[in-house]
Amino acid sequence: MPNKTTAKARKASVKQRVQNESDAKINNEQKVEKVVDDTEDTDQSLLHTMSFNCECDNKSCTEIIQMSTDEYENVHRKPNNFVVVPSHVKLDIEKIVVKFSNFLIVEKFAVKD
Ligand SMILES: [Zn+2]
Repeated sequence: MPNKTTAKARKASVKQRVQNESDAKINNEQKVEKVVDDTEDTDQSLLHTMSFNCECDNKSCTEIIQMSTDEYENVHRKPNNFVVVPSHVKLDIEKIVVKFSNFLIVEKFAVKD
């Protein structure tokens, strides 16, 4: 019998992709916290430029985005916002909020259980 691709199976995979993005984001947030902690006593703390991992749905993505910790914290004030390289935006699970030359800020659609 051929395998039916059920709606349920498709939803699970979207969920997995969103989970991948969340994992990438947690990773980046931990990086920022570390840098902010390390530089707390210095004057240039918030203008630090860092390399962030692209937060797309591909778990093995290795693209790097350069932005300041300040910019990054701005993006992530909204829990559904993620940063991705322009070629990695997935319009079926997210929409573009702001475009920059080297990265995009996207907003993830809500995933219902
Ligand atoms: Zn990516």
